[in-house]
Amino acid sequence: MNIDELIASSEASLKDAFRYAEEVAYRNQCKVMDAFRKNKIALRHFVPSTGYGYGDEGRDTLNALFADIFGTESALVSPNIVSGTHALTVGLFGVLKAGDTLFSVSGDPYDTLTEVISGKGNGSLADYGIRFKKCALKDGDFDLEAIASGLKDESVKIVFIQRSRGYEWRDAVSEEKIGKVISFIRGLGFDGCVFVDNCYGEFVEKTEPTENGADVAVGSLIKNAGGGIAPSGGYIVGKKKYIDRIAGRLTAPSVGAEVGSYAFGYQYFYEGVFLAPHVVCQAVKGSLLIGACLEKLGYKTSPSLGVAPYDITRAIRFDTKEQLISFIQAVQESSPVDSFVTLEPWDMPGYQEQVIMAAGTFVQGASIELSADAPIKEPYIAYFQGGLTYEHCKYALTKILQKLV
Ligand SMILES: *Cc1c(COP(=O)(O)O)cnc(C)c1O
Repeated sequence: MNIDELIASSEASLKDAFRYAEEVAYRNQCKVMDAFRKNKIALRHFVPSTGYGYGDEGRDTLNALFADIFGTESALVSPNIVSGTHALTVGLFGVLKAGDTLFSVSGDPYDTLTEVISGKGNGSLADYGIRFKKCALKDGDFDLEAIASGLKDESVKIVFIQRSRGYEWRDAVSEEKIGKVISFIRGLGFDGCVFVDNCYGEFVEKTEPTENGADVAVGSLIKNAGGGIAPSGGYIVGKKKYIDRIAGRLTAPSVGAEVGSYAFGYQYFYEGVFLAPHVVCQAVKGSLLIGACLEKLGYKTSPSLGVAPYDITRAIRFDTKEQLISFIQAVQESSPVDSFVTLEPWDMPGYQEQVIMAAGTFVQGASIELSADAPIKEPYIAYFQGGLTYEHCKYALTKILQKLV
């Protein structure tokens, strides 16, 4: 089949899905703009700070801005949070104490949390006497029976939900389902912390988990919420009582969120979250387009094209390791940075298997930029996400299709 025709016919079939994605982006842009106006964001908020950062207005106002965007009492947003894994770790250590149980109701948490939760002798939650248990999703939704039985244990202090798919062949969970399961959990009398790994989910739907009953939500600024502009960082938003404890973990219990400076200034964090609704929409449209084209060629991809996506990722299943690697390489070759590099699988820290990652990005490893990665194991599944502009996604798709067809 002719590649241009394949792309054009796929675009035509996605007209309604694109229109919906744009409607979501508009809603989220309104939410972000209302928060900017409410917090009277001004040029002085972008200026650098140094040392302890006492009275750093840029930092404090950025926290307040994120709290308003996510509909929470409080927030921590910081370039000193080095990644999503770090933000999640600080959040979990902040809320949990010895003897408590962390209960994941969406199956295994993301790969890089395995060692955080159950590592031996590495300072993990387990080392501090914090237990872990989980129940898997059932037919793409929460398993209410298993959750009810798991919650009979009074030591459960966090119910943990991962919104996005992670490295699994399952759809992200919708905000509708998250809202429903939280109501169910509250109905059972659970008064602990509902904690959401929000990575890849921000601004994909019209609401966030914290607007649907979650106490804490956590994410990375080199994914959705940084809008492709933030150079590093993470955020933790939620109820004040939790955020205060988490701030004590991020820095020290005596100083919490009163300290923390950034000598390069905060402009990119403000500008990033301002751009995020639009950039996320570009990535969602890119993901839909690659899904539609590859399905026409007979590949299996997830999420299905019939429903609005709940995160920015797309999983694509390949028959062989060679096809998988060649797909990831094609993504790298169509990247603006390091397009000339030939990728190979490697033993990446925090992951159980060898991983191959295409990230020809301006910000190292930023996966709101066009990127793809895959653990080298059967079944051979590539996880594709990001794209700062729809046009770039389309460009990359052309190169990918040239390789695959
Ligand atoms: C990316 C991701 C993480 C970890 O974030 P890093 O910034 O890579 O450490 C955690 N959970 C989910 C669902 C993710 O997608």
